[in-house]
Amino acid sequence: MQDFFPLTVTDINHDTRDAVVVTLAPRAEDADRFRFRPGQYLTFRRDFDGEELRRSYSICATPEEGLRVGIKRVEGGAFSTFAKGDLNIGDTLEAMPPQGRFGTEEETGGKHYLGFAAGSGITPILSLIKSILSGNDQAKFTLVYGNRSVSSVMFRRELGDLKDRYLDRFNVIHVFSGEAQEIELFSGRIDADKCHALFGPWVRPDTAEMAFICGPEGMMKDVASALEEAGMPKNRIKFELFGAAQPGRAKLKARAEAARKAGNMVKATVIMDGAPHTFEMPREGQSVLEAAREHDIDAPFSCKAGVCSTCIGRVKKGDVEMAQNYALEDYEVEAGLVLTCQCYPVSDEITIEYEGH
Ligand SMILES: Cc1cc2nc3c(=O)[nH]c(=O)nc-3n(C[C@H](O)[C@H](O)[C@H](O)COP(=O)(O)OP(=O)(O)OC[C@H]3O[C@@H](n4cnc5c(N)ncnc54)[C@H](O)[C@@H]3O)c2cc1C
Repeated sequence: MQDFFPLTVTDINHDTRDAVVVTLAPRAEDADRFRFRPGQYLTFRRDFDGEELRRSYSICATPEEGLRVGIKRVEGGAFSTFAKGDLNIGDTLEAMPPQGRFGTEEETGGKHYLGFAAGSGITPILSLIKSILSGNDQAKFTLVYGNRSVSSVMFRRELGDLKDRYLDRFNVIHVFSGEAQEIELFSGRIDADKCHALFGPWVRPDTAEMAFICGPEGMMKDVASALEEAGMPKNRIKFELFGAAQPGRAKLKARAEAARKAGNMVKATVIMDGAPHTFEMPREGQSVLEAAREHDIDAPFSCKAGVCSTCIGRVKKGDVEMAQNYALEDYEVEAGLVLTCQCYPVSDEITIEYEGH
């Protein structure tokens, strides 16, 4: 069963003109459910004009600090506009327990970490920076943070305080796309050229243990390939993507309808809470997640874009293919894990299990 639990808004801080930082507290009986690892996110649900929307926000605090998210208003965006403009202390938000695998579970020791963030992509990385630096007095962190201008930098004061506190161990390089800087290197966007120019004197991928990247898709790809070119192994580069382009829903629906009409169906079994549910689904145009929910199975989901990891399932029988995957590592896919929101049947019969549900 997928559960949402009430969280009370205990503080609101309007960090920039467009961003709000919201502190939340679970009920005493839910405290254990809401324990989290640095880098994880919360998924909220809320009705907007009669439609339930689910949106994920990374936790920007350490486990010791508690639940806090930083939300940047997106022009015309439903949840972020509501959070920035209408959320008040004392309000309740419904949230799923923390999820996500961005971060590291390794011993941080005297190691050196890199972070590359753009805009609101700083949120999970801030949690990692604070946890890594406070967790070991030898650990080091270098952050490259891209924004349009100084006024749009989220957590500007907190990053400054961290710099004061960890003078020799924390280094932050701000890169501004909309404001000229005295040093040309710090103007522009974080792309492959910028990375190569920063590598060496400013950023040392050769001595870094791991790199964390969070920002727009193009920036993440550019930074990752620059890091790989600089010799960093792929499995040491971690991503968190906040959104991805999706194929048009209307087109997919039409393909599913055509498959149904042509009798082009497969037999699907979805195991939820240990109980198997078997139904027929179109071979094309409908994801396993959508088919399961159409058959009243309470399958978990959030972004529906292959970005978050809420809808993970395991293939027990048959073959499926994923349209997009920004959340699972190669070895997890090899082990049979799939993002069911992106998962389409390839064989005549499939069985997928939602584990932990
Ligand atoms: C794992 C994860 C972690 C995340 N962490 C954070 C975080 O820490 N901080 C943060 O700020 N964000 C984060 N995000 C992004 C966040 O979840 C939302 O996607 C974001 O806030 C936008 O949601 P919204 O409801 O405000 O906008 P939406 O209503 O989803 O709109 C998004 C865009 O689509 C446009 N749009 C909406 N409806 C239509 C339509 N019918 N036709 C055309 N265009 C339309 C809007 O104008 C807007 O530009 C995260 C996402 C993921 C997956």
